[in-house]
Amino acid sequence: MSLANKLAEERRARLAAERLLELKQAELFAANRKLGNHAQKLSNEIVETRAEVAMVRGENQRVKTELGVANEKIQIAERRLWHSIETIQDGFAFFDADNRMIVANRAYLAVFEDLEEVQPGITYPRILQLLTEEGIVNIGEELPAEWRARMQDRWQQDDPKPMEIQLWNGEHVRIFDRRGPTGDIVSLALNITASVRYEEQLREARERAEAANRAKSAFLANMSHEIRTPMNGVVGMADLLTETDLDGDQRLFVDTIKNSGEALLVIINDVLDYSKIDADRLILHPETFDLEKTLHEIVMLLQPSAQAKGLTLKIDYDMQLPTRVIADPGRIRQIVTNLMGNAVKFTLNGHVHLRVSGARETETECQLCITVEDTGIGIAADKIDHVFGEFNQVEDDRNRQFEGTGLGLAITKRLVELMDGKIWVTSNEGSGSCFGFSVTLPIARGCSGQSEMLEASVQRILVMEEASDQHESSLVSQIKALGGMPIQYSDEVELTVEFLEALSLVVLDLDSENPTFDRVTNMLDKIACDTPLLLLSQSSKTPNRIEKTKVHTLQRPYTRAALFDTIASAAVPREPDKVVAKVSRTALPKVLLAEDNRTNQLVFRKMVSNMDIELAVANNGFEAVAAFETDQPDVIFMDISMPGMDGKEATARIRALEGAGPNVPIIAVTAHAMDGDREMIIEAGLTDYLTKPLRKDALIEKLTIYCPQLQLAS
Ligand code: ADP
Repeated sequence: MSLANKLAEERRARLAAERLLELKQAELFAANRKLGNHAQKLSNEIVETRAEVAMVRGENQRVKTELGVANEKIQIAERRLWHSIETIQDGFAFFDADNRMIVANRAYLAVFEDLEEVQPGITYPRILQLLTEEGIVNIGEELPAEWRARMQDRWQQDDPKPMEIQLWNGEHVRIFDRRGPTGDIVSLALNITASVRYEEQLREARERAEAANRAKSAFLANMSHEIRTPMNGVVGMADLLTETDLDGDQRLFVDTIKNSGEALLVIINDVLDYSKIDADRLILHPETFDLEKTLHEIVMLLQPSAQAKGLTLKIDYDMQLPTRVIADPGRIRQIVTNLMGNAVKFTLNGHVHLRVSGARETETECQLCITVEDTGIGIAADKIDHVFGEFNQVEDDRNRQFEGTGLGLAITKRLVELMDGKIWVTSNEGSGSCFGFSVTLPIARGCSGQSEMLEASVQRILVMEEASDQHESSLVSQIKALGGMPIQYSDEVELTVEFLEALSLVVLDLDSENPTFDRVTNMLDKIACDTPLLLLSQSSKTPNRIEKTKVHTLQRPYTRAALFDTIASAAVPREPDKVVAKVSRTALPKVLLAEDNRTNQLVFRKMVSNMDIELAVANNGFEAVAAFETDQPDVIFMDISMPGMDGKEATARIRALEGAGPNVPIIAVTAHAMDGDREMIIEAGLTDYLTKPLRKDALIEKLTIYCPQLQLAS
């Protein structure tokens, strides 16, 4: 190979080497640059990481500081909480779901005194065990195991009820346990010893107060008895004195004695009743009685005072209503007497109207609405709400003249409420008041509301009264309700002899004015037929020109039964074959009085002196029984308190002697006024009772009830 070639070859090789070198150098350079970039990136990252580390350190420091503060606060809160829990006097403990004590305050642990075992970690069953074994708890008669089982049962419940336990030292603890959602239990033991002792003191104080109240009631009862007994003599004798010849002054004195005595009795009764109601001691004694009759009796008793003032007393008892109901008759009487008494008292002229309306609620019950309407002084609108309050009187110049305790309506309201009834009043000052009450009462069994029916032969009755309007009068509807066929007299009725002769009875209402009355009575008298005349009147006045006609009278107000009896006995049967012979009793009714007190005997004798009776007096129970056997009296008035044998025992003996035969009516005469006495008297076999001081009208009323054959001497 030539040199040139060699040189060329070497040059080519050198050039190739130089190119390779350049290439390699370029690669190296590129690699260096990459390395440089990477190094740069790394150092950037390091800078960033360092910054982050610094930040995290700062954060960490802050968190640490905050944690320290929070910890401190928690410690303070915990200390305070614990301090509080330790400060409270009541026991506090916390148990976990496994019934292990976690914490308990000193008060809780103090109960266990020196028992070191009782501390956090102890279980609840073990605590129960220690309580019974160490005699810390007073479990009474219960066996320890039973007591623990009961406590354990309660502890297991989701919401254990609070309970009380008594410790050995007499202290009382009420335990409240509350279970949390995870099964932990917070137990709180409150020391209630003070309140238990306070309750005991209260109970003792109440018992003492009740005993004092009982003593007060007994005192009032005794006082009333003691006052009533001598009042019997005072009022009774004053009553009799009024019937003797007296000059004006003497009459005034006697009337004052009598009125004051009676007023005093009203006050005694009011105070007695109110104190009983106040002590919740007033008990109702329901029994079957005739409401209509009772109301009539009340009206009859008030009649004299109403008549003295020129007032008309009216009574309207809805004929559709039953008369025999079950209630406390004494209390019903008291309510109506209060309302009627007030109405008469506060009415100077006009009328007082007692109405009974209502509806049968069921077959066995009836709702009754009894109203007393008067035309008296009325009550001002601003006072009306107060009249039922205690000692409230509508006091002004007008009613100062009226006597009273202001207790009547308060008692009345409480009595109505005791019967589950309602009482109300409406009034217009100056024109009158209307007091009413409603009660729902059971209807007495066997009482259909329908009284006896007149026989067919005595049904044709002519009714003559003031033809005020076209409506059927209440008298006509009353006679219809008794089964009669009344003919209401009017201009259309032609008065012929035949017509009058065909009647069984002519009823004439003397309280209403009718110019034809005279014509009818004259005609009846002239034709001298046997059709009798029945006169109805508030007073017992009789027309003086009647000579031949048989005249019967019935004084208003009368009961349905009285109207029936009068018509039935007065009316002449118009069918000859149905004539019933009337039995006449000529013998005088025999009345026996059993009474040990001479003054009371005298009062009684004087009161019945103008009556057609044969009176015998027994000085004690023994004599009464003996007189019953020998004399067979028609009625006996029996004093209850008598030496030797009292009225109740004498009655029992008489009832035993009578056996199953008819019972002689025995009427107790008693000064007892306390609740229950009446029932006790009736239970003892007596038929009825009269309270002392004896009143002539009440005595006569009883006599006429129990001796229907009795005739008053004119
Ligand atoms: P008092 O013993 O005074 O009659 P009450 O409690 O019976 O006591 O009545 C309270 C008051 O209500 C009476 O004093 C009277 O002012 C008033 N009052 C009661 N009834 C009537 C009535 N029918 N008319 C007018 N005022 C009446």
